[in-house]
Amino acid sequence: MQGRIGREVHSFHVQNFGCRATQADGAALETMLARKGMQAADGAAGADLVILNTCTVTSSADEDVRHAVRRVHRENPSARILVTGCYAQRAPEELAAIPGVWRVVGNSHKTQIPDLLFEPRDDTPYHGQIHVGDIFAQQEFLAAPVEDAAGDRTRPNLKIQDGCNNRCSFCIIPFVRGRSRSAPVEQVVSQVQSLAGRYREIVLSGINLGRWGREPGGRMRLAGLIRLLLAETDVERLRLSSVEPMDLSDDLLGLMASSPRIAKHVHAPLQSGSDRVLRRMYRKYRPHHYADRIRKARLLMPDAGIGADVMVGFPGETEEEFEENRRFIESLPFTYLHVFTYSGRPGTPAALHASQVPQPVRKQRNRILRELAAAKNLEFRRSMVGRSLPVVTLEKGNMAISGNYLKVELTCPREANRIVEVEIGGLTAGGLREKQLLPVL
Ligand code: SF4
Repeated sequence: MQGRIGREVHSFHVQNFGCRATQADGAALETMLARKGMQAADGAAGADLVILNTCTVTSSADEDVRHAVRRVHRENPSARILVTGCYAQRAPEELAAIPGVWRVVGNSHKTQIPDLLFEPRDDTPYHGQIHVGDIFAQQEFLAAPVEDAAGDRTRPNLKIQDGCNNRCSFCIIPFVRGRSRSAPVEQVVSQVQSLAGRYREIVLSGINLGRWGREPGGRMRLAGLIRLLLAETDVERLRLSSVEPMDLSDDLLGLMASSPRIAKHVHAPLQSGSDRVLRRMYRKYRPHHYADRIRKARLLMPDAGIGADVMVGFPGETEEEFEENRRFIESLPFTYLHVFTYSGRPGTPAALHASQVPQPVRKQRNRILRELAAAKNLEFRRSMVGRSLPVVTLEKGNMAISGNYLKVELTCPREANRIVEVEIGGLTAGGLREKQLLPVL
C-alpha cells in the first residue's frame, strides 16, 4: 500500500520530543502507520515522511523543534514533514510558516494522522496545511496497541492517562493536551499482558498519572489498577512515572512498598518548597503536605529512589523564597532532582506577571539546586555500595537500571532485557558499578 499524499510515500520516521507521554504517543503512531503498510525508515534522512512529535513545555523545547524542522528539510528536502504534538496544538501557524512543513496536526487530530495520509489525493501543492481543533472536546484516548518499547528498547513506556484538569499558572499542558482521560481498564490489562511476554519492566506513564480512573463514574483508582495488573498479568516489574504528591495515597505507597514486582521509585513533582510560590503557581498542596508524602515514602521504602521536578525563577521568586525552597529540598530524602528554569509560556497567567526574574538570577538558582541534587545523589549512591540490587539489563548488555533508578555498569555483560541481582562494588561518574568478580584460577 502507498500513501496518497501527492507522491508515493512508503517509509516514515517519527522523531519524538519531550515527556514520556509524548514518547508513548509516538510509539502508538508508529504502530498505526505500520498497520497501514508503511515501513519504518532507519532515520529521517531516508524517510519519505518525517513526523516530528513535539513538546512545548518551555521556549527551548520550541526552539529544538524549529531547529529539527530546518535540519530535516535541509538534509532530506524531498521528505514530507508533518509536525504534530503539543507545540502543533499551541501554535500551528508558527510551525506552518517554516519552510518544508507539509502539515501541522494538533493533539486534537493526532489519532487521525494515518487517515489524513491516505485520504483521496489532492494534487494541490500543500504547504503548511493545519489540522487543529478544540482539544477540550477530545474524549478519545490515543493508544494504538503498543507492540514495541517506546524510548528505551528494553523498558516499554505505556501511557495510561492523558490530559490534566489542573491549571498550574505556569503550565501550558492542559491547553494542548485537554481534560484528564484514562485508558480503559481492560485495555491496560491486555496491553500489559502482551508487553509482559517480551519485556521484564513496564513503565506506566501519563500527563497526570495519579488521576487515572478519576473521570465521573470511575470507581477504580491507580492503586486498584496496579493490584489488578499484578493479579492478572505476568509482568515482572512495574514502574510508575511521575505522580502528583496528593495522589501518593497511603494505599498507593503501601502497595509499592509491599510488592517486589513494583520498582522502589517515587517521582513527585514539587516545583517549589516555598508556600508563597506554590500559591502563586496555583499548586494544590502546601510544603508540609508534600514533605509528609515524601517522608512516608522513605519510611516505607528505605532504599527507594525518590525524585522531584523543581522550578527556579518563577515570576516574583525572591531571594528569600528561593532560599526557603533550597532549605526545604535539603531537608528531604531526595535521591535526584530534575531542575527546570522557568520559561514563560504564552497564554499562561504566570507569563503576564510583572516581575519576571532576570535570566542570570534564574541561571544561578538552577546551578545551586543542581549542585544540591548532585550531592544528595552521590550520598545515595555511596549508600548502595556493598548492597545487592535487582536491575533490568538494557539493550547494551553492559548497562542496567536498578529498581531504585540508578544506572549500573555491569562488569560481566548479560543478555539484554533480564532482571538480575547484582552486587554493587563502587561508583561511576553518575551511577554504580557492579562488583568485579574474581577470576577463578
Ligand atoms: S498538574 Fe499542573 S504542571 Fe502538571 S500538567 Fe497539570 S497543570 Fe501542568
